Amino acid sequence: MRKAFVAVLLFSSFAFAQKDFPGAVILTGTVEQFNAACKADLDNARTEITRLKAMKAPRNTMQTLQAFDNANLDISFAADRASLAQEVEPDESMRNASEKCGQDASALSTEISLDRGVYDAIVALDISRSDEATKYLVKQTLSDFRRSGVDRDEPTRARITALNDELTKIGQEFNKNIAKGVRTASFTPAELDGLPDDYIKSHPAKDGKIVLNTSYPDYIPFMKYAKNSAARERFYRVYNQRAYPENMDVLKRMMAKRYELATLLGYKNWADYATENKMIGNAKNAGDFIEKITAAADSRMKVDYAELLEVAKQDNPAATAVNPWDSSFYSERLRATKYNFDSQVVRPYLEYNHVKDGLFGIVSKMYGVEFRKAKDAKVWHSSVEAYDIYDGKKNLGRIYLDMFPRENKYSHAANFFLTPGRAGTYLPEAVLVCNFPDPSKGPALMEHSDVTTFFHEFGHTVHLIFSGQPKWSGYSFQWDFIEAPSQMFEEWTITPSTLQLFAKHYQTGEPIPTEMVKRLRRAQEAGKGLGVRRQMSLAALSLGLYNRDPKDIDTDQMTQMVTEKYTPFKYVSDTHFQTAFGHLEGYSAFYYTYMWSLVIARDILTEFQKDGFMNPAVAMRYRKEVLEPGASKPAAELITKFLGRPYNFEAYKRWLDQTE
Ligand SMILES: [Zn+2]
Repeated sequence: MRKAFVAVLLFSSFAFAQKDFPGAVILTGTVEQFNAACKADLDNARTEITRLKAMKAPRNTMQTLQAFDNANLDISFAADRASLAQEVEPDESMRNASEKCGQDASALSTEISLDRGVYDAIVALDISRSDEATKYLVKQTLSDFRRSGVDRDEPTRARITALNDELTKIGQEFNKNIAKGVRTASFTPAELDGLPDDYIKSHPAKDGKIVLNTSYPDYIPFMKYAKNSAARERFYRVYNQRAYPENMDVLKRMMAKRYELATLLGYKNWADYATENKMIGNAKNAGDFIEKITAAADSRMKVDYAELLEVAKQDNPAATAVNPWDSSFYSERLRATKYNFDSQVVRPYLEYNHVKDGLFGIVSKMYGVEFRKAKDAKVWHSSVEAYDIYDGKKNLGRIYLDMFPRENKYSHAANFFLTPGRAGTYLPEAVLVCNFPDPSKGPALMEHSDVTTFFHEFGHTVHLIFSGQPKWSGYSFQWDFIEAPSQMFEEWTITPSTLQLFAKHYQTGEPIPTEMVKRLRRAQEAGKGLGVRRQMSLAALSLGLYNRDPKDIDTDQMTQMVTEKYTPFKYVSDTHFQTAFGHLEGYSAFYYTYMWSLVIARDILTEFQKDGFMNPAVAMRYRKEVLEPGASKPAAELITKFLGRPYNFEAYKRWLDQTE
């Protein structure tokens, strides 16, 4: 999710009614229409700011804030639409137009954030008799202003503006290189030995060669199942080179400019700046948190690794280490032998359409909502589906599912706002972008990990929709909380009673046997320590690239250092994973937030564990007390209300130690 200089379309020149969902209409029009919509939104924002500044002091609090919020929302319309378009538009000229629109929206956002006239108007407002939601908005807004550098002298503000504009472009370049960085590797039919039949069938050989690409549906099964270690090594190396060498230099520039900006604003480094408005508060706390988790997972990681090495020794008795490209493969074998679990046997129960319908059913029952297919919705690609979410007669918003890989599309899984909402004025439009097996190409049997990703992302989708009509659009989410609702929802994919609601054999319709789910759980637990430490290596990389002066940082060395300090695996020279690690742009220094959110998620789950995962009473309370308030209150306050106490580390520690 993006940060807010976010922002109402009341004053937009696009006179759509709520039900029209203008975002996708604009996205599916011509480049000229897209550009005109972008310009109209940004012009509207400027008009609002001009109107605000022209109001005579003492200004009316509500009118001033409304003008400011309208401006923010107008900018968000343009910016959110542009950042989605950049990742999903099939048409290159639209992607280019969206890149330009994103830059213009960012530039205007920076301009307003450094506008002393706007700041002075808001500082002078009397909010002593305003409601809590408005007081919180003003507090957040003034803090954002100060963090932007509005109170600096003119030359400093000019430099801040230049740096922000440069950073927008650098960020776009970094992401574009990753999106474009799909690489291919060719294999002989024999090298596909071990892969499932449907995988082999959907990848036929041409002239004796099978060309695979680095998208998830090609890469991940290969690393798990292909028996040939040399072939896995070849694919691993190609995969970890996706945005190399292009992003080596882009990353260095991004780190340097961020450091310059942070120090200009009076912070020691970018990490201190980026963590200041999070739950964690500063970079030192982030580092301490990483070390706390690292220590808590240490014994578990060692056990996991020893088990994996034991399995690797079956093929090579002299082995003293597990190669990184062998880790998925031996994890699979470990699951098959020690835990009597073969992840391929689960796949027939996880056909994409069953999973999707099942997920909708679960969300409907828990939260008392209904998904209605929006048949006439405009979509940017024929495979994209749109649904409206209804609570009784009330439409809460629209979601789009863009679920299958295609050229030039975002290669991971994420949620985007297409259009943010605001109470009484606009309904939210959220977009789920994933890369799952495509049912138009035969039975789309998902890996269980795909299903986990689907539920994770849908946890975000539900959060976006339920919180999608705030009183003010200008609230910003605390990023170290936003992964809690998504990670919590993953538990529904590993609990027999909820998994069985939708995991039915695609040929026989039999639900997945309870005993198989239990084995799946045990098998998943097997690699938990390694998984947590892998996450800590990524968190340490994200923090380490930003918590010091970057001029002497060699990003390869840093990647090697964190790999070898936090995981038992050797760094493979010439792989340059960091160049394709998209979070280094979007999350910058705060990748730790996933684990921080997981600590919170595990504690929130205790309420569902007490009262039942499908219990509408607890789910509804969660919807009302945590999801709907969204960013309108500090996250810790919402969690404390839901739990009846502040959250703590205990549930996470129990999760870390559990073995089934
Ligand atoms: Zn997430």
